[in-house]
Amino acid sequence: MSNLFRRLLLAIAGVLEAAARELHAAATPASDAAATGRLLPWAAGFIKEAQDWLWGLSQGQLAVVMISTSFCGLIGVVLFMPLAVVALFGDDPPLEPLPLPQPRDTAAAGNGGAGGVSRFGDPSNGLACMNASTGALLGYVPLTPVAGVAQAIAAARAAQVSWAATTFEQRRQVLRVLIAYLLSEQDDLVALSMLDTGKTALDAALGEVLPTLEKIRWLLREGEAALRPERRSTGPMSAHRTATVEFAPLGVIGAIAPWNYPLHNVFNPALAALFAGSAIVIKPSEHASWSAVHYVNVIRSALAACGHPPDLCRLVVGRGDVGSALVGGGVDKLFFTGSTAVGRKVARAAAESLTPVVLELGGKDPAVVCDDTDVPWAASIVLRGVFQNAGQNCIGIERVYVQRAVLAPFLAAVVPVVAAMTTRPAAAMGVAEGALGADDGDVGALTMGPEAVARVDALIQQAVSCGARVLVGGRPAAAAAATAAGGDDSAGGSSGRGRAHAPASLYYEPTVLTDVAHGRGMQIVEEEVFGPVLTVIPFDTDAEVVGAINSSAFGLGASVFCRNACRADALAAAIRTGMVNINDFAVNYLCQSLPFGGVGASGYGRFAGVEGLRGCTLERAVTRQRWWGVRTSIPPPMRFPTRGTGYAFVSELMALVYDTSYISKMDNARHLLGMLLFKRWRPRAVAGKW
Ligand code: NAD
Repeated sequence: MSNLFRRLLLAIAGVLEAAARELHAAATPASDAAATGRLLPWAAGFIKEAQDWLWGLSQGQLAVVMISTSFCGLIGVVLFMPLAVVALFGDDPPLEPLPLPQPRDTAAAGNGGAGGVSRFGDPSNGLACMNASTGALLGYVPLTPVAGVAQAIAAARAAQVSWAATTFEQRRQVLRVLIAYLLSEQDDLVALSMLDTGKTALDAALGEVLPTLEKIRWLLREGEAALRPERRSTGPMSAHRTATVEFAPLGVIGAIAPWNYPLHNVFNPALAALFAGSAIVIKPSEHASWSAVHYVNVIRSALAACGHPPDLCRLVVGRGDVGSALVGGGVDKLFFTGSTAVGRKVARAAAESLTPVVLELGGKDPAVVCDDTDVPWAASIVLRGVFQNAGQNCIGIERVYVQRAVLAPFLAAVVPVVAAMTTRPAAAMGVAEGALGADDGDVGALTMGPEAVARVDALIQQAVSCGARVLVGGRPAAAAAATAAGGDDSAGGSSGRGRAHAPASLYYEPTVLTDVAHGRGMQIVEEEVFGPVLTVIPFDTDAEVVGAINSSAFGLGASVFCRNACRADALAAAIRTGMVNINDFAVNYLCQSLPFGGVGASGYGRFAGVEGLRGCTLERAVTRQRWWGVRTSIPPPMRFPTRGTGYAFVSELMALVYDTSYISKMDNARHLLGMLLFKRWRPRAVAGKW
């Protein structure tokens, strides 16, 4: 009995030791690394002493320990539990709100005044950033010299050494600090994105903050499980070994981002890279660097608040030359998100330095509306999928295939809604007082300004010249405003983004275009529009719609709206894209467990999900001895110096293991034993032909 008790106490001591290590790792900031080094051996030593002491006790002494333990047990549990809860879920360092960049030329803000024009392009001040809603100057962000990219990578690499040794709990702590900050400061974060891109507050909340929060939630909950070593099967030749895939920190990851979602495009790669134990160097778009500087500062501050080097997340600001320097700068992996044209250049440059690259490129996502679907409901989802962020989404719905039987009700559902949509400058921080988003229009600006407006218009007019019909919109907002005012279109100058523009020239009227068809030379069915255009393509049969969809060079996402589940599954299976949502739009991105990526001109490789997270690691195959004392031993015929029977031995061995005939196997076994046991055994002529 007393021995049983002794063993029980020893087992508890073992568990306590393991718990002490876990709790200590959870509660100790990494900056206290020296204390970690002192305390852990001390705690382990203490428990070891206690174990030795227990073994040395007499029966009588043990009885005293047993009785007092029973008394203390209840009190111990009551005391220990709150301590454990505090240690595990206790205080994370709060992140104080960081000073926000303020628009420099407040006089110009809101009206695109002369101040914006005169200051733009002053190279001594760095990169000029404009309020995409109004064309006014926001300020200048210092450009990173091309040589500075290598320095940023080197600093990130130095910081990553200690980060690679952190526990998942330490990484989760940084994520918890960030999620708290995102929630408490979301108004400011959203407002910055609005200033930089001209989107509405609703579009920013849905496209920037929501997926970022979901990504952090997923990483907190499932990230560690995704990166835990994974046991794999072994073959018959290696049955005495264990096989494991380990996901080791990779080093420094580079990320090159587009302008459409500056907040998410910074947080998305940074969160995955950091959680996987790597550092990251981010190059935001030169058209969204104003807000990106702040977003990167938030991540750096969260790292610093938790005692880690902020250089784990570095920012480099610039145009293509800076991006190019990052591709060839020696990062261990590169995530490129942007256009197909630039993606091709990046792939070529990455091949030169053998840098692994993930390409997340453009899209031309289809939505199929079948004749059995609930049309008004499907139309409401399609509208969000088309007009979210003024259509400037890689996974925005760009082609709506409507079965001819429901074409009229579909158009009846969408046309009045689109006709009622408004475009006007978003009421972001520093531009207007009042509740964020309360005064926004439905559709924001085209971030790339008058060039984008002109490009969208050209695609629509070209389609019209080939037989398409405009049901709503179909004009630059400036032209519409001029017509309404009865004046000329003086607001629609197209002198390039970066100049101050009258706001109307930055917007395009929300448009419905129907009778669009493949094979009639309409560029709008082939090219990415990236604008607020609902393009309707009527179809009759499923085979026809699948053929039309798959004729596109792009293959990012797709939606299928269909009541018949079997038909929906068949359509989804036949569509060649990286992601498909049946009876929904883009919801796959709110399942952060899923990989994100496309095929063809939409790129290759995956971010997000288990695949994306593991893609930020060095996936390493490791084998170990399965049983103590059983190790690999080279059979004598295969040892150097060989005796001439090596080949015959291996040949018999392969036949023994892989031949399907048991009679042959017995013969192989006989020969193998013979070769092993008798030096003068004559092997069969296994290669008689020669
Ligand atoms: P872009 O290709 O013009 O620029 C993307 C980034 O590449 C920018 O930061 C730019 O400075 C940089 N760059 C330019 N030249 C470079 C070079 N030679 N080497 C390295 N970097 C270089 O794209 P954009 O106009 O900013 O973004 C819009 C495009 O992005 C659209 O096609 C859209 O579909 C795509 N996009 C794709 C995804 C996705 O996940 N698949 C997400 C968002 C946007």
